[in-house]
Amino acid sequence: MRPVRDGGSATLLAMPLYDFHCRACGTVFEARAAIGELAPCESCGSADVERLLSGFAGPFTIAPRGAAAKRSDDSRRTREQQRQERSQQRRGALESG
Ligand SMILES: [Zn+2]
Repeated sequence: MRPVRDGGSATLLAMPLYDFHCRACGTVFEARAAIGELAPCESCGSADVERLLSGFAGPFTIAPRGAAAKRSDDSRRTREQQRQERSQQRRGALESG
């Protein structure tokens, strides 16, 4: 463990870690930055970066429940049929081989 010296480290720890996206080179990187500040790209050093919102909780994460439920029910039924067919095939293979 390194001894923590006074001065500087306190402010660094106080800065939250953000995800940034560099518009110049497309790199996504994590960096500590003060609130409202942007960190320069760690790859190319460009200041043309944007802060990514944590979580990416877009509207696309909320699926229409009815359709999704129906679909998963259908796929489960299909999977069940496939499993039964496969087990029958395996049994047949064991008997013949
Ligand atoms: Zn960059």
